Amino acid sequence: MEKKIQRRLTKQRRIILEELRKTKSHPTADTLFKLVRRRLPRIGFGTVYRNLNLLREEGEILELTCGKYSCRYDGNMEPHYHFFCLRCKRVLDLGIPILKGLDAQVGEKIKGEVKYHRIDFYGYCRECSGR
Ligand code: ZN
Ligand code: MN
Repeated sequence: MEKKIQRRLTKQRRIILEELRKTKSHPTADTLFKLVRRRLPRIGFGTVYRNLNLLREEGEILELTCGKYSCRYDGNMEPHYHFFCLRCKRVLDLGIPILKGLDAQVGEKIKGEVKYHRIDFYGYCRECSGR
C-alpha cells in the first residue's frame, strides 16, 4: 500500500514536470493544473501545488518573482533572464548573454561568493506597447 502511494506520487510529479518543461509560457500553478488534468483527470489543485513546491525545493524547477501576482513556474533551469509584461502578464525568456562579471563584482562587494544571480525586466511586450 505504502509503495503504491509512493509510486503514484512519483508518477504525478513526473507528469507535472513533463508538462512544465513542454511549455515556454511560464504558467501559474492554476494554468499548469489545467494542463496536467488533461493527463491525470482525477488530480487536485492541492496536489499540483504541493508537488510544485517539492520540485522547487529539489532544484528541478524555478519559481519566478510573483510580486502582487500569482507565481510563475519555469522548467528550464539553464540560466536566463526574463521579461514580464505588466499588461498581458506574459513572461518571456530573454536570449541575452548572462552577465558573468556581475557575480565577481558583487562577490568583491560583499567579501563573499556569488553563486548565481537573477535579473527580471518589466514593461510592455510588443503586442501591448503598440509600437
Ligand atoms: Zn503584453
Ligand atoms: Mn524562462
